Amino acid sequence: MSAFQELGLSQAIVSSLTELGYSSPTEIQAIAIPQILQAQNDLKAFAQTGTGKTAAFSLPILEQIDTNNKSTQALILSPTRELAIQIAVNIKDFSKNQKGLNAMAVYGGANIDEQIRALKRGVQIVVGTPGRTLDLIKRRILAVDRIQWLVLDVADEMLNMGFNEELDNILLKTPSDKQTVLFSATFPKEVEAIAQNYMNDPVEISAGKK
Ligand code: AMP
Repeated sequence: MSAFQELGLSQAIVSSLTELGYSSPTEIQAIAIPQILQAQNDLKAFAQTGTGKTAAFSLPILEQIDTNNKSTQALILSPTRELAIQIAVNIKDFSKNQKGLNAMAVYGGANIDEQIRALKRGVQIVVGTPGRTLDLIKRRILAVDRIQWLVLDVADEMLNMGFNEELDNILLKTPSDKQTVLFSATFPKEVEAIAQNYMNDPVEISAGKK
């Protein structure tokens, strides 16, 4: 059994990881994957870029997505367009053996009509920057009232960039019984406030030195 299988991931995902050259999990993956898979608890994770955090939150979500259901089940928020695109590319790579799995990135500075058309076809995992995500929610194109997973990636950077209001507005539209996963490299008071206001007794995990 591969180390990824031991964390609870199924063959379809593990074989994509093997093809990508991921032979063993990184430290944050070894901690976060079983935690997200096995518990409903919210998760507050200290992890910097380069630690393998994208797979740490994406793989356990991919494992649990209902591919027979086309509605949006997971929303991943990221501070920049480049990072949103990168996360969506990674998710597509991880899920290439999962039939019926759709993921896409939505971000500003790009044609919204194309994003709307793509979303209307049914996207289970949406990766977005806060501004464009909120715009699509307000236009009633993106429905987040039934999501099961919300990921706030690089939360400190999203707040540094002034996305507080967008985050508040988006989070208020999500259901209270979802699992919220927050990844951040630093925990200033603004990040702690998000955790305080929107997370339910989160489990705290850390990889590397704080
Ligand atoms: P991230 O922290 O998610 O930006 O990932 C940093 C880099 O590590 C990316 O290029 C990933 O493709 C790579 N990576 C993530 N997890 C693994 C793994 N378990 N084995 C090998 N490479 C990995």
